Amino acid sequence: MTSSSRPLLNRRLAEFGTTIFAEMSALAVRTGAINLGQGFPDTDGPEEVREAAVRALRDGRGNQYPPGPGVPELRTAIAAHQQRLYGLAHDPDTEVLVTAGATEAIAAALLALLEPGDEVIAFEPYYDSYAACIAMAGGTRVPVTLRPQDGAFRLDLGELRAAVTDRTRLLLINTPHNPTGTVLTREELTAIAELAVERDLLVVTDEVYEHLVFDDAEHVPLATFPGMRERTVTIGSAGKTFSFTGWKVGWVTAAPELVTAVRSAKQFLTYVASGPFQYAVAEALALPDSYFAAFRADMLAKRDLLAAGLADAGFEVFRPAGTYFITTDIRPLGESDGFAFCRALPERAGVVAIPNAVFYDHREAGAPFVRFAFCKRTGVLEEAVSRLKSLA
Ligand SMILES: *Cc1c(COP(=O)(O)O)cnc(C)c1O
Repeated sequence: MTSSSRPLLNRRLAEFGTTIFAEMSALAVRTGAINLGQGFPDTDGPEEVREAAVRALRDGRGNQYPPGPGVPELRTAIAAHQQRLYGLAHDPDTEVLVTAGATEAIAAALLALLEPGDEVIAFEPYYDSYAACIAMAGGTRVPVTLRPQDGAFRLDLGELRAAVTDRTRLLLINTPHNPTGTVLTREELTAIAELAVERDLLVVTDEVYEHLVFDDAEHVPLATFPGMRERTVTIGSAGKTFSFTGWKVGWVTAAPELVTAVRSAKQFLTYVASGPFQYAVAEALALPDSYFAAFRADMLAKRDLLAAGLADAGFEVFRPAGTYFITTDIRPLGESDGFAFCRALPERAGVVAIPNAVFYDHREAGAPFVRFAFCKRTGVLEEAVSRLKSLA
């Protein structure tokens, strides 16, 4: 213990205790419930990608510190992927940075780009690391709440516009959006881009679910809009796209000055990570379009299976246009407190879910919403659906 009565955890982090995922995963283990809480797949990604990692390891590629910006093979593959999908040209040497997952990319970007007191606008509900990283960087978060409207959570562009002040430094965007499954439309992205240009804001955009868009939704990177290429830090990750979340290979693509800034923070966080896996992800990014199409089709079928099951069980379902999460409203079940509902659900129905309120500053705005992950084997989802029927 320290000699003073001062709390050990500093004031910046005091509000961030253990994450809800730790609590809910422990509850899943204790009760034997099916864990649809945390968003990781329960099967590994493509065999040839796994084999590529084994080969790299055996051949002694990446077993020692890889280059700070990432191995050249991977940086080249990331640039080629952005070009092939979106027509975005990036110099692999100056405009691409490999990170320890998207998580480190987010942290490094915020630590590099914010001065204490700078305001950061982000959509609420937020991905859980955003608030903590803004706090660690000394920034002030300014939430813009996505609200339910016609079966989806939508951004109010007027509210976004009104949130910008003279202290706003950065917009932290996430599309496709976790946890709501919202995919921003071209019109919304155009308005965001115009606002960023007009108010001279930096943009950090988390696009880790870029390959998981369904129906007629379309993922369009913000960096493709006029005036955005030079002010946008785009973040991607292999974890979600290739179902290797444990490998922690993520990346940043941006203009050289932005990459240099982010790298300045990144070099003192992990310095480097995931050596052999970087070579494997380079091969994964070059997989033919058929891989990405099959991955999307598989996840779409899982979405439809779980969405139908949740609707049958009595939830209001917000059918996601992207990601591998479904947000539901529990009020049709006669419930209103997502925390209490999720704490009781494992005993009641043998399933674990996450209360969306943890992703809000305005907890009351998120109170009745609960998130389920569908990146699980079909048999597991079928069993979960059958268990949830008992709620109806
Ligand atoms: C999973 C996730 C991340 C973290 O990605 P890693 O590459 O595993 O660090 C970042 N942002 C969002 C929105 C996510 O869902």
